Amino acid sequence: MKTAVVWFRNDLRIADNEALYRACEKFDRVLPVYCIDEDRLHAPWFDIPKTGARRMQFILESLADLHESLAAAGGGLLVLRGAPEKVLPELCGRFGASAVYVHKEVAREERDDEDAVEKALSGRAEVKFFWGATLTHINDLPFAYSDLPDVFTAFRKRSEKESEVRGLFPAPRAVRLPDGVPEIGKLPSLADLGFTTAPIDDRAAIAFKGGEREAWKRLHHYFGKTRKLAEYKHTRNGLLGLDYSSKFSAWLAQGCISPRSIFYEVEKFEKEVKKNQSTYWLVFELRWRDYFRFVTAKYGDKLFYPGGIRDERPRVWHDDARIEAWKAGKTGIPFVDANMIELRETGFMSNRGRQNVASFLVKDLEQDWRIGAAWFEHHLIDYDVASNWGNWAYVAGVGNDPREDRYFNMLTQAERYDGKGAYVRHWLPELANVDAWHVHTPWKLSKDEKALYGLSNGPYDRPVCVPKQWKQ
Ligand SMILES: Cc1cc2nc3c(=O)[nH]c(=O)nc-3n(C[C@H](O)[C@H](O)[C@H](O)COP(=O)(O)OP(=O)(O)OC[C@H]3O[C@@H](n4cnc5c(N)ncnc54)[C@H](O)[C@@H]3O)c2cc1C
Repeated sequence: MKTAVVWFRNDLRIADNEALYRACEKFDRVLPVYCIDEDRLHAPWFDIPKTGARRMQFILESLADLHESLAAAGGGLLVLRGAPEKVLPELCGRFGASAVYVHKEVAREERDDEDAVEKALSGRAEVKFFWGATLTHINDLPFAYSDLPDVFTAFRKRSEKESEVRGLFPAPRAVRLPDGVPEIGKLPSLADLGFTTAPIDDRAAIAFKGGEREAWKRLHHYFGKTRKLAEYKHTRNGLLGLDYSSKFSAWLAQGCISPRSIFYEVEKFEKEVKKNQSTYWLVFELRWRDYFRFVTAKYGDKLFYPGGIRDERPRVWHDDARIEAWKAGKTGIPFVDANMIELRETGFMSNRGRQNVASFLVKDLEQDWRIGAAWFEHHLIDYDVASNWGNWAYVAGVGNDPREDRYFNMLTQAERYDGKGAYVRHWLPELANVDAWHVHTPWKLSKDEKALYGLSNGPYDRPVCVPKQWKQ
């Protein structure tokens, strides 16, 4: 009997999962495993623990769903607490596994895990890596990933023209477990892992629920039932509501659905319903996701340096009061505060919001962009190391932005994307009655008006800063 372990990480699905598919094809027995490394989950950076309870909840839901799908094929998922380099060799020894099949990751800690597992299994079991998280396979790029262009457009044009998206791997028909696997499918609770439950606020654009089935449900809603995909290009900068964008991000981040599966569903939509700029644009955005993953593969640790991939020396000073006001959504700039409160209360923020609050922290408050990235890392349900740190570095001007001094003017942005103030009122009830002229600039209200609205002596009386650029 030949046995393999399939080590699940950010690939919590059975469809289009090459590691799982190949293991089931080649081995008589397959043991699917997920390791929960609590030291990693809770490790702080800038005093901010990595993982928030909402993301952990999403992961647990995704694991439960994955177990169900594997069980339906005759197998199941073994979830163990501990570092993979301890857990996996022990399992290989116990069940006589001669191989570990796993998808490759790109960032430092994940690569450290891979090295440690390989070292611990050296001479005992082979660790076989697969590439499965991007639209374009790394081996199909028109250049070596070390020669990746530093400008997205150059990358996109060449990958669109010169590389194909590979076909999908079907879900395995049968997953045959080794005999005597204990506690298959048993999951720890949030409390077991040291988290306190954090409900998602009722005002949320979406209450994410983890799992491959939920991912497909969302896809069928967006492509099938509502056909909102056909309008995506015109709605994607929205701030309010379920369908202004696909909301695929959390499922993509945990690998509950693959970008290739989405790509082929877009193609189907184009054939059966409509092909337009919106259908193109969703794939365009998936290429951004690819790009940041390849940037991370190319630059490694540089992504986490203050000067990013450009070895810049950004101008920063450390001001706790400014940082805390930003985190708490109490800067006095409604457009920033509403977004920051949305993030804290729901674990999600729109792309437009993310760009703005990031720019505000870095360009207006002049604080270290990495504190913002760490804050997002904790709170986002859809946190993805490459997309988060890559986008932050980009906005901070130390990443892949060819426009040297990209600056977001909060007032212009607020006016353009929230002209009537519906979004800020949604998240800041204290501004509910403020007129549209002042809802984005409440500090300009008269003393009497501030008293009338109950805004005297608070952040909306004196914002943390009003940069001179906004006066133009
Ligand atoms: C400062 C900052 C931090 C971010 N952190 C993350 C993160 O941790 N995880 C994450 O998935 N995205 C991140 N993004 C990218 C983007 O904001 C989210 O992917 C998007 O808002 C998620 O909503 P959606 O799925 O409805 O996106 P849609 O607009 O429907 O896009 C479809 C998919 O394309 C991908 N995508 C879209 N925009 C981007 C982008 N700019 N970069 C990379 N991929 C993109 C995502 O996978 C997304 O699910 C960040 C952006 C910024 C500016």
